[in-house]
Amino acid sequence: MSIAQHRRTVWFPTAGQRPAATPLGPDIAADVAIIGAGFTGLTAALHLARRGAKVVILEADAVGAGASGVNAGFVVPNFAKADPDAVIARLGRERGTRLLNMIGIGADRVFATIRDNAIACDAEQNGWIHVAHSPAMLDVLARRAAAWRALGRPVAMLDEAQARARTGLRHCVGALIDESGGMLHPLNYAYGLAAAAIAAGATLHENAPVDRIARVGSVWQLASGGTTLRADKVLLCTNAFTHGAARPLGRSTVPLVVYQIATRPLDAANVRRISPQRNPVADTRANLLTYRLDRDNRLISGGMSMLPIGAESRMAGMIAARLRHELSLPETPMVDFVWRGTAAMTMDFLPHLHEFGPGFLGGIGCNGRGIALTAMLGEVLANAISGADPRDLPIGMTKPGGVPMRMLAAAAPSFAIAQARWQDHRAGL
Ligand SMILES: Cc1cc2nc3c(=O)[nH]c(=O)nc-3n(C[C@H](O)[C@H](O)[C@H](O)COP(=O)(O)OP(=O)(O)OC[C@H]3O[C@@H](n4cnc5c(N)ncnc54)[C@H](O)[C@@H]3O)c2cc1C
Repeated sequence: MSIAQHRRTVWFPTAGQRPAATPLGPDIAADVAIIGAGFTGLTAALHLARRGAKVVILEADAVGAGASGVNAGFVVPNFAKADPDAVIARLGRERGTRLLNMIGIGADRVFATIRDNAIACDAEQNGWIHVAHSPAMLDVLARRAAAWRALGRPVAMLDEAQARARTGLRHCVGALIDESGGMLHPLNYAYGLAAAAIAAGATLHENAPVDRIARVGSVWQLASGGTTLRADKVLLCTNAFTHGAARPLGRSTVPLVVYQIATRPLDAANVRRISPQRNPVADTRANLLTYRLDRDNRLISGGMSMLPIGAESRMAGMIAARLRHELSLPETPMVDFVWRGTAAMTMDFLPHLHEFGPGFLGGIGCNGRGIALTAMLGEVLANAISGADPRDLPIGMTKPGGVPMRMLAAAAPSFAIAQARWQDHRAGL
């Protein structure tokens, strides 16, 4: 059997104490059963348990075994693929503004939760930098920064000299900085959320995959192996997964496989040169470049593969070589950790709430920006399941639907990445 991906990350061996799970027993009844112990489910559990609900969290594997434990730890409070103007155009001014206001405060919420619950997760709220690789993209970023500023967010532009002083990127004509963004150790953040939820009264069951959910009378019955649980309400927080009860939520998204690496720690001189203020950085190319340092000054970076076969070692080599080139490192950094994870992309790149039945909701759609977004999505789910009027929620409630030709759609990013690499090559990047 293959090792779960979260155990292969740099985060697993550097994580703190695992939260205390309870073995699944017979006769479990809850006000709210939460399926999935990633950031979304754990945040919802924390809110609901603090309000006095009897909350049971059912996790198929372990806390952080999904995207929450394998991500890169960039805390970014915006949409990767939807500008504020596009969100307003799609949802209308009132609903769009409500959603944008929610997204905009996501990073502040993450760092406040970390402070309030004393979560030790190497959190650094030092500003997320988005580097423009071309003058055309600098214009795009300037418009984006102005739109977020108009919403009251601390987003500014850096000129080329300022951006070069804060990043080591070879291709840089200026940058956007969101001062509320930052980075953290994602698995420790998940562990901390779980510990806080348990301290507030929630019960966590690991190795408890939910196979089926059925409405029996006025309650929901959840089957996990040979055990049956009863709950008045259910939250499905299973992200990109599609096994067992997760299927209807996962199939409403397109899976995107992302490879991540952690290099051997850099020396102090290179750290000072490429990241003097330790900002997490992304650039604007379609074949996106990202990098950040972890607490040991390892470089964390990632990428997507065109072909799945043999991708892991190939991607490790490619990402490390790209870091050397783009950051003008003296040599290609050694890769100590390589892993992959699956992000869930929605067709409109926006988050959604889904209603599967009376008192049975799910939330999805972090589109690769899940740390900041789940801090809000978890709260919205908690409010929705507690009876908030759907018209007052910042995320719209819809009936779930499958993505047409999902596997074909899943292959699209591979073609897009091939095209992006070709474009970069032709542009001499
Ligand atoms: C490689 C990678 C890098 C990323 N980098 C970043 C980043 O730097 N910054 C950022 O903001 N976002 C990033 N993201 C996105 C972010 O990690 C996710 O959006 C976020 O973690 C989603 O959290 P979640 O709780 O909704 O889902 P998950 O963390 O995936 O949790 C879902 C949980 O449900 C469980 N589950 C599934 N089926 C069942 C079942 N039937 N019964 C019980 N449990 C079940 C799973 O085991 C899992 O633990 C990245 C994603 C990936 C894959």
